[in-house]
Amino acid sequence: MPDLKNVNIHSIKANWLPNATTLDVLRLDNIHPVVSGNKWFKLKYYLADARQQQYKTVATFGGAYSNHIIATAYACKENGFKSIGIIRGEKPAQLSGTLLSAAEYSMQLQFVTRDAFKNKELLKQQFSNTYWIDEGGYGSLGATGAGEILSIVDKVENYSHIVCAVGTGTMFAGLINSIKEHQRAIGISVLKNNYSIHNEVVQLLHDPGYAGRFTIFHDYHFGGYAKHPAELIAFMNDAWHKYQLPTDIVYTAKTFYAVRQLITRHIIPQGSNVLMIHSGGLQGNTPLQKGVLPF
Ligand SMILES: *Cc1c(COP(=O)(O)O)cnc(C)c1O
Repeated sequence: MPDLKNVNIHSIKANWLPNATTLDVLRLDNIHPVVSGNKWFKLKYYLADARQQQYKTVATFGGAYSNHIIATAYACKENGFKSIGIIRGEKPAQLSGTLLSAAEYSMQLQFVTRDAFKNKELLKQQFSNTYWIDEGGYGSLGATGAGEILSIVDKVENYSHIVCAVGTGTMFAGLINSIKEHQRAIGISVLKNNYSIHNEVVQLLHDPGYAGRFTIFHDYHFGGYAKHPAELIAFMNDAWHKYQLPTDIVYTAKTFYAVRQLITRHIIPQGSNVLMIHSGGLQGNTPLQKGVLPF
């Protein structure tokens, strides 16, 4: 499965960091150029469960640029499963780069209308003997896998704050479950006004008391899921030129932007040791025109 030897800690040296405040980035994006960092962890126990129950086919749901779709296609191929991707929307004349890669990893793509996509239970009934993973890999097995992310970090107890992007909240829940009492988890929601995410995260926690360990910020979606106004693109260029940090338009650029603002506004207090999870997802930049980003 994942090749963790390329994962490293990238320490950010920046003039906006107050005295005695440190910011490290866990570069899960280095696991694989196409298959997103956190998805490896999230898929691990679903595939183990599918294998244990002797399924040969694994299916899931997603959009045309979904990191989860491409990661599922790849992980299934590596692990000897057939894979099916139920894709939201009619089949386009030209498949996205993401879907072309998924098909290359032998995923069978099934396009359904946006309306049909909403009724997951009905869609599931059309396939027999199939192991289903929820959209985005949401669920407790996903959180269990994501809970292992921090086990690859040296001296992880020295960090006071762990920050990551929140989509379905599965990775975030896994991190909350695995941090220690003295640590805080900060999640950056990438969807607009997605306040129900708080409860969806709580549902995946091992102890209801862990709800006191985390905060989710809702002010960094830049207009909504996958929206990438010029200000965000400029910030991504800046992050590359100043810190050699590549980011993606959906998750990690918004997270890094939020980290900078939370630190400079002292919402993350001075003297904190912050670990930001770079959860990967760079393939999500493929809808951009060539040359918009320098990496
Ligand atoms: C899927 C994804 C996330 C969000 O993970 P969730 O567990 O759905 O919250 C964050 N970053 C990247 C790069 C992703 O692909």
